[in-house]
Amino acid sequence: MFRVSAFGYIASLLFVCFRIAPPADAGDPSTKVDAAADALEDKVIGWRRDIHQNPELGNRETRTAALVADHLRALGFDSVRTGIAHTGVVGVLKGARAGPVVALRADMDALPVTEETGLAFASTVRTTYNGRDVGVMHACGHDTHVAMLMGAAELLAGMRDEIPGTIVFIFQPAEEGPPEDEDGGASLMVAEGALTDPRPDAIFGLHISPRDLNSLYYARGPMHASADVLKIKVIGRQTHGAAPHRGIDPIVVAAQIIIGLQTIHSRQIDTRKTAVISIGSIHGGVRNNIIPEEVELIGTVRTHDAEVRTDVHARIERTATAIAESAGARAEVSWGHGIPVSYNEPALVDRMLPTLERVAGAAMVELTPAVMGYEDFAFFEQQVPGMFVFLGARLPGISRAEAAPNHSPRFVIDESALRLGVRTYAALALDFLALSPTE
Ligand SMILES: [Zn+2]
Ligand SMILES: [Zn+2]
Repeated sequence: MFRVSAFGYIASLLFVCFRIAPPADAGDPSTKVDAAADALEDKVIGWRRDIHQNPELGNRETRTAALVADHLRALGFDSVRTGIAHTGVVGVLKGARAGPVVALRADMDALPVTEETGLAFASTVRTTYNGRDVGVMHACGHDTHVAMLMGAAELLAGMRDEIPGTIVFIFQPAEEGPPEDEDGGASLMVAEGALTDPRPDAIFGLHISPRDLNSLYYARGPMHASADVLKIKVIGRQTHGAAPHRGIDPIVVAAQIIIGLQTIHSRQIDTRKTAVISIGSIHGGVRNNIIPEEVELIGTVRTHDAEVRTDVHARIERTATAIAESAGARAEVSWGHGIPVSYNEPALVDRMLPTLERVAGAAMVELTPAVMGYEDFAFFEQQVPGMFVFLGARLPGISRAEAAPNHSPRFVIDESALRLGVRTYAALALDFLALSPTE
């Protein structure tokens, strides 16, 4: 039986009144953002599937870039620049009112991974990468970033009248690094003027992740590690394997250097500071009874602090050269393309945290320790204050331990998270502009 008490009646009347005519919410931009994100959801998922099925490696994102540029032009953007850092796109949307400038960034590149997800829209694309035949897959989820930022672009273009400033949309190539012997990525976008005319006052980025569905994760300070490619060439003197004293053995010296490098973090720097030195490749020699002339070591070095980074580099050089010298050999240390620490500006984080809590719900926003992975968004953050967040999109019913990580051929996401991503991009831009003092 259905009974209505007087109290229940009044309460439901109040509830209905509040729902129907919330005076404080009338015209509230966040209400409009939510409604627009709902309306755009199917479109965003459609773009994501299309991009997922047609992945392109770094510096080769021509189809994706054309899709983006056509979309921004169709939305009536004030300017759409293409071909920045090879295939990058920068779109500018001016609000009806004058004010500061904010940038939103999505990366567009896929990885040389052969997809094994079994999705209906899985990629079957193959290409040549660094001379090898490889499968191509959006195994890092950058397809979702492009689709979500295209969605935010459409949403914000529909709210021009309410935008108190300018929004710059940055679609970046080659976040995972350009192919060998090519330049590219965020550093090249900066060099080619992505952050000029207009110059943003802040920049926001996000990354899809197999963390909890529809949660947002942020760090205050370092978010990703610096990453440097380390190369050490150990030069000895070739000799017979039975007569090592007639030469200088670079294999034994290389082994001593590898062990020596591991004592840098454990014995020489404050162990409360993070640092990882990993050697991932050793090459030297051709057969059992020839001690070779040279050995090459290649590795990666990660830190969360610019000073520690410089210090660790100097100690690696000292350790390698001095150990080599002790054996009468020589070590040449060189550094490949390096990525700085990505750093969430604490003042900006404090200012934008209420925005994250509003869009995701306070219980779904979590402070996270910095990760040891890198993100070349760091190059943008070297120019303007920035903030980066992780968007959780793990399928329900799967534990974090079971979920395939980014870069796995089985990496999958729950597409219901894309709506939150669109709202997060849009809300960060709108709130940043609304909260900034007008010039
Ligand atoms: Zn990645
Ligand atoms: Zn990525």
